[in-house]
Amino acid sequence: MKESLVFVLNCGSSSLKFSLIDSQSHAEVFSGLGDSLGSDTPIVKYKYQGTKHTIDLPAQSMHQKAVDTIVDLLATLSLSDNVTAIGHRVVHGGELFTQSVVINEQVLSQLEQLSKLAPLHNPANIIGIKAASIAFPALKQIAVFDTAFHQTMPPKAFTYALPRDLYVEHGIRRYGFHGTSHLYITQQAAKVLNKPIDDLNIISAHLGNGASVTAIRNGKSVDTSMGLTPLEGLVMGTRCGDIDPAISQYMIDQLGYTNDEVNDIFNKKSGLLGLSGLSNDCRVVEEHAMRDHDHCQLAVEVFCYRLAKYIASYTVPLGRLDALVFTGGIGENSDIIRANVIHQLKIFGFELDRQANLDARFGKEGKITVKDSPIALVIPTNEELVIALDAIALIEE
Ligand code: AMP
Repeated sequence: MKESLVFVLNCGSSSLKFSLIDSQSHAEVFSGLGDSLGSDTPIVKYKYQGTKHTIDLPAQSMHQKAVDTIVDLLATLSLSDNVTAIGHRVVHGGELFTQSVVINEQVLSQLEQLSKLAPLHNPANIIGIKAASIAFPALKQIAVFDTAFHQTMPPKAFTYALPRDLYVEHGIRRYGFHGTSHLYITQQAAKVLNKPIDDLNIISAHLGNGASVTAIRNGKSVDTSMGLTPLEGLVMGTRCGDIDPAISQYMIDQLGYTNDEVNDIFNKKSGLLGLSGLSNDCRVVEEHAMRDHDHCQLAVEVFCYRLAKYIASYTVPLGRLDALVFTGGIGENSDIIRANVIHQLKIFGFELDRQANLDARFGKEGKITVKDSPIALVIPTNEELVIALDAIALIEE
């Protein structure tokens, strides 16, 4: 039988992540990143059969040039004929999209309308969709939404205590993100715990450069830490997460910042980067914290304390907790962050298995708590696989 490969695209404003997933074996056969798009030195980096390569693009090249370069590569590597669908990660699906869809003219125009809810993300996703449809005109394209998994949240979880009109007329509510990751974690946790998904209650902590935590009851999202945008909630690499909303007005009125500067600070200069003054990379912050760098120590403390408080609060909608799951670059790799958080959750009976915690690194799945403790797991996430499988399911329909 002919191999069926799904081309998965995840477009940011100046970057583009891509991979080719084998729909039968679920293996990633080709992957890479178009980076620094629009700059003087744009590149496409890719990995194929264990070897890494870099291609320099002409200065100022944008997404279309990167997609065309990748398409040429697929042809050179004799992979193009096996590509059967294209799956796009789309950040914001609003309330319109509760599951993945095949993209047509109407869907594209709905995505364009949703750009006002995610001005930093959706326009880049749309550019990726248009570039891919020019490069692969015969293939179906599927949009997989970061928000869709959270559309099961009840009104008490998604409603801000603001005047009702802001929700009814303008869609201002909590949507949540990282849905493909939290969905994948739900499916994997059900396998690990040997429970049916519809009887599974977990808290999923996706801790990467962006970070969010989700309460999942009977396999469905019932609360999540990100809101109208991915800025709300946990401390992240460069995002501040929860703050007093009046801080923004204070900075503008009293300190002379412009609106754009405030936005830039909250989104790009805060979080681990802002607290440490050094880096948004948790590894760098941890290393310096261990060498008694005060600001890095505080950064780790603020990060872990906020996370532990969220996890504790998500026991409220769950009632019964089958497992706490760590995932994402930090959740999968940082034994320090996991140990700190588990320690703060002692009141629930959590007790770390130190050796198991040290062993669960570098993409390994495992339980990191002792026998009589509530269960905490590390499960490597795989958002590309969720996108690829959704794409295959939709084209088979
Ligand atoms: P992601 O956005 O899921 O790719 O996660 C990226 C982040 O994971 C990086 O910015 C690092 O902060 C973090 N990370 C990766 N490896 C480690 C590690 N060994 N220890 C701590 N943090 C790590």
